[in-house]
Amino acid sequence: MGRANRVQSRASKIALARLPALLERSVSLKQGLRGFASVGGIVSASVQYNRLMENCIFCKIVAGNIPSAKTYEDDDFIAFLDINPKGPKHTLLVPKAHFVWFLDLPDELSDKFFRVARKIATDLKNETSADYIHLGIEGKDVPHAHIHLIPKTL
Ligand SMILES: [Zn+2]
Repeated sequence: MGRANRVQSRASKIALARLPALLERSVSLKQGLRGFASVGGIVSASVQYNRLMENCIFCKIVAGNIPSAKTYEDDDFIAFLDINPKGPKHTLLVPKAHFVWFLDLPDELSDKFFRVARKIATDLKNETSADYIHLGIEGKDVPHAHIHLIPKTL
């Protein structure tokens, strides 16, 4: 076997070794796309979303597989401090079930999302010297719906 062939053979072995990971990624990508397609069908959306997603960092935090500085928890939500804070006590509020977008949450859960956000905002206002609490609803940076609560001064 010439040198070129050996190199090529080694390269294909490496490619083969990576195949399972690549396949797994494409499967989870497809699951994500299915989730997108089901928005609007509340029943199928809840069947698909009300479970932990394997590769979601927030689901791992919910499951306790990744440590977090937790500041609030109830049956449906947890809040923890952002690891890249944009202000003092920058907090993330996250539903425990995996929903990519805020729009995917059922009515009852989205109502509670804001009740809990308001409670946390009140606590943050009392605990910091903030003039107001900035609220931002995300889903794109980490594809698991979350609210940023950032104490700010005027
Ligand atoms: Zn998730």
